[in-house]
Amino acid sequence: MFTLMFTLKKFASRSVLLGLGLFSLTGMQALAQTTLISNIQGYSLAQPVPGSASPAASEERTLQRFTALQFTGNRIDRVYSAEEALPDTSGMTVIDGQGKTLLPGLIDAHGHVLSYGLSLLRVDLTGTASEQEAVQRIVEFQQRNGSLDWIQGRGWNQVLWDSNAFPTAQSLDSLFGDTPVWLSRVDGHAGWANTAAMQIAGVDILTQDPNGGQIIRDAEGRPTGVFVDNAMDLITANIPELSIEDQKLALRKALNALAAYGMTSVHDAGISARTLEAYKELLAEGPLPVRVNAMLGAGDPELETLLAAGHFTSPDETLTVNSIKISADGALGSRGAALIEDYSDMPGHRGLLLLSPEQLGGYMETAMRAGFQVNVHAIGDDANRLVLDNFARLIPQTDTRALRHRIEHAQVLQYQDILRFAELGVIPSMQSTHATSDKNMAQDRLGEIRIQGAYAWRKLLDAGAVIANGSDFPVESPNPFFGLHAAITRQDHQNEPAGGWFPEERMTPEEAFASFTLDAAYAGHQEELLGTLEPGKAADFILLEQDIFASAPSEIWKAQVLETWVNGKRVMEATPPQ
Ligand SMILES: [Zn+2]
Repeated sequence: MFTLMFTLKKFASRSVLLGLGLFSLTGMQALAQTTLISNIQGYSLAQPVPGSASPAASEERTLQRFTALQFTGNRIDRVYSAEEALPDTSGMTVIDGQGKTLLPGLIDAHGHVLSYGLSLLRVDLTGTASEQEAVQRIVEFQQRNGSLDWIQGRGWNQVLWDSNAFPTAQSLDSLFGDTPVWLSRVDGHAGWANTAAMQIAGVDILTQDPNGGQIIRDAEGRPTGVFVDNAMDLITANIPELSIEDQKLALRKALNALAAYGMTSVHDAGISARTLEAYKELLAEGPLPVRVNAMLGAGDPELETLLAAGHFTSPDETLTVNSIKISADGALGSRGAALIEDYSDMPGHRGLLLLSPEQLGGYMETAMRAGFQVNVHAIGDDANRLVLDNFARLIPQTDTRALRHRIEHAQVLQYQDILRFAELGVIPSMQSTHATSDKNMAQDRLGEIRIQGAYAWRKLLDAGAVIANGSDFPVESPNPFFGLHAAITRQDHQNEPAGGWFPEERMTPEEAFASFTLDAAYAGHQEELLGTLEPGKAADFILLEQDIFASAPSEIWKAQVLETWVNGKRVMEATPPQ
């Protein structure tokens, strides 16, 4: 019953759009420019079998090659193979692709846009060799970022400096004037402030050290600018909460950086009502540079209102909301992931579920009944089993298999649970660079048996699951070519380990490509719009220096994106951040 209503609603809104589309198309086509990009090495996945409800099974995955791409306005008209004659180009804009490689825009099915943007708005002091070098980096950061209310950063470590001494407010004061500066030490257990920040905080010679904290002082007892442990709160309590304007700045910064990496769409894994507001304000200023498919964070106090408002798609289709994100457990590195048996490197410890079974089931059912796709973070095998049990019970009860529910990460799985993804139509949303970053740690945590079911994307594919790939930025670099490389080689950038880490789990280049294009689009209910370069689909594509399908797999992570296009417009503005 529920699915029926959902389908009808979808059908109705589509007919309305179609009607409007026909009406506005005649008006728009006079304006919409047709563009032909010729002389390219083009690749897209061959069209899935007509009428098939899900992407083609992995063994049917083939690459379609083409040498020219034609689009009008924001939609693909067609591609031309080497054998096909190019059209009469009078009236068209013709771009010479100069033999470069053209791919559909890549999609990251799991990242955190706001945190990534904020990380770009903070100065990174890791690896500095002296206090002077750290100060110089802050000066350059400020020159790049203009006027910020607070300059914030992290990563200094005085033990690595020539001085081997704490830095001081003095070295910052003459350079940053009234702008408060706050810089955390590499371990987060100390912070370095300038005098402007200390004045805002009302800190002076009379300020007492708080319990569990220390203010570093000179011989006369005056604070020198470094605050240890609980004393850090004296400063941080005065850093204003993020305004909507701050959020907009961070989101725009992040989206522009993602475009420079060759990403044309991202699934933002859990946003607040305020971040949704910031996205909508950005939209009012123009299309988002990269498409965002935002999952609503289940913990948000306004969740009920957001669910009641239903799905959202902006008229330019750059912002979509049709899912929610719930977190079932923590991460493996910090031993927060919930395991069925003890951690191999910590007997007696099995991690932690973040929600009671009632809470978890409650969130899932509420979202399903509101017609939302349910995306649950589960890393440990216990969390994954519990979430799959919930899906097995709730999907039939709510008749929502068509909503394509997901498990985010699906990192550690028992063998029998691997089969349940395809059975239940649940999508494992995985991040291939996690495998190559975590490999040594994961083996310590899990031991020799359980590791066989970890990062096991080959076993999932063979069991019929559709895998959406991503990076979980800023936990990992958002660079999708790092992800493609890790998926295909199971090696890091030093080609370690030789032959690949559990190389039997490797994806073929076609499968890896699908996981960052069509299958990621499918995981966002957007496979009719995105993921391949076919007539009527969005003109989202990238131009690359290297032909990743012709180069050695070990070289894929080095791919350089030259141009990124979304909705038929060039959006790439900058080289990616280092
Ligand atoms: Zn995440």
